[in-house]
Amino acid sequence: MAEGSTGGERVVGIDLGTTLSKLAYVDESGRPVLVPNAEGELLTPSIVAFTKTGILVGRDARREALANPSRTVLHVKRQMGNPKWRFKVDGETYTPETISALILKKVKQDAELHIGPVRRAVITVPAYFDDARRKATEDAGAIAGLKVIDIVNEPTASALAYGLARAAQDGVSLVYDLGGGTFDVTVIEKRGNEFITLATDGDVELGGKDWDERLVNHLAERFRKEFNADPREDPQALAYLWVSAEEAKKTLSRREKASVPVSYKGHWGNYELAREEFEALTEDLLAMTQLTTEMVLEEAGVTWNGIAKVIPTGGSVRMPMVQRLLEKMSGKTVAAEVPVDETVAQGAAIHATVCVLHSNERIRELGAEAAERLGRIHTIDVAAHALGLIIKDVRTLQYRNDILIPKNSRLPTSVAKTYQTAYDGQQKIVLQVVQGDAPDPSACIVIGAVEVTDLPAGRPAGSLVKVTYSYDRKGRIHVTAEDQGTGRTVSAEIVRQAGLKAAQVAEEARRLSVKSIE
Ligand code: AMP
Repeated sequence: MAEGSTGGERVVGIDLGTTLSKLAYVDESGRPVLVPNAEGELLTPSIVAFTKTGILVGRDARREALANPSRTVLHVKRQMGNPKWRFKVDGETYTPETISALILKKVKQDAELHIGPVRRAVITVPAYFDDARRKATEDAGAIAGLKVIDIVNEPTASALAYGLARAAQDGVSLVYDLGGGTFDVTVIEKRGNEFITLATDGDVELGGKDWDERLVNHLAERFRKEFNADPREDPQALAYLWVSAEEAKKTLSRREKASVPVSYKGHWGNYELAREEFEALTEDLLAMTQLTTEMVLEEAGVTWNGIAKVIPTGGSVRMPMVQRLLEKMSGKTVAAEVPVDETVAQGAAIHATVCVLHSNERIRELGAEAAERLGRIHTIDVAAHALGLIIKDVRTLQYRNDILIPKNSRLPTSVAKTYQTAYDGQQKIVLQVVQGDAPDPSACIVIGAVEVTDLPAGRPAGSLVKVTYSYDRKGRIHVTAEDQGTGRTVSAEIVRQAGLKAAQVAEEARRLSVKSIE
């Protein structure tokens, strides 16, 4: 392979969604294109099933989810970064990273049927993902055998795709991204070839799934009242109920009424549901997105008048209640023709191409004009979470979060703090880092301990050590430390509460490399 060239391997963007995953690449003319899976579909359900004969991912796994719910994993994205979550089947244990890696492996191997070898990828994450979830996503890519060149925030990806596809004018846009399991709202300014994020906020536990859940409970209650039996008691009946609820929700996006069949223990119920009723059942969920949206605008220092465009993305924005809310809040017509399912993967593919071009590598498959145009693009993101240290307040003697890097700081960014050793001969300092705005550390996300070790021996108390905390462009946290006496760099490491160690990632990658997806 010629140096400085991608040599026939495609760089791709992958939208690893809670309910659906997609893969895109940039064609010769610089246009992002979604690649179909082996079933000929552009959207692959993010579902993994373990059958007696092998592993299924996608549409076939969805069928298994109904027949064998206990051998199937849905919505694993919600578990990313959760150290307690494990899936056990046939004597084997899987982490959220490895389950996600199986989804990535499926979209990668299917895409290869169409576009040839795929090795390098950009994977998207909700803007609001914290460090542990971002790391878990990168690790999932590595386990799947991908070289993850970057992770990019979903709203940034949407803005990129939208901005390029439509040769959008300069100005400030608001990206309202309501997917299957997460919600993000981001204010982004397009200035020529620059896409600058001004502020972002969201909820990693709010998405279409929560709308489904309201319907599941509503239908189960109606069924229980009628037949004195609760389908939620049985995993298989419950799995069917989830599917019917989601179908009904989608029908209600197009029609005023839907009828939902529910069966359990030999009883059959058929429930008529009006859109109005569905909206009343879920209006508090919508109100939460409104609150976050208004807050982000304030943080960005922009009013609705300053927003040139509202970009709705994520499958759940098809619900008429969302469109109405966006129009009511913004006072603008909200572009309904935006391909809400595709923009994130498309933007990720553009970002992947831009990353490669910025590293001065030539992409053989990309035309000269497109390379020139895409090479000019720059994106600037912000930190979705403040980074803080847990300290003991000398006045109150209570522990509190001392914020080092405020939320919405432009990335990359770093801050240095100087510490004194507390006793003679101290060679190690341990600091606790958290992500979040709340003064109370228990209301924040604990990242883990920063361990500064190998300080010079035999030094008196009061020796100075400078610790630098930084967020890189991806929103990942790093620390470095320097002994002020000698100016020497000393070892500083974040011992994370969650996540896999490098050796575990390598081991999982080995384990997965011998497993095939049918
Ligand atoms: P995403 O993760 O962005 O692909 O979004 C998937 C979510 O969009 C799931 O919760 C789907 O149920 C939801 N969704 C897809 N189509 C519709 C529709 N027509 N009406 C309402 N929700 C939808």
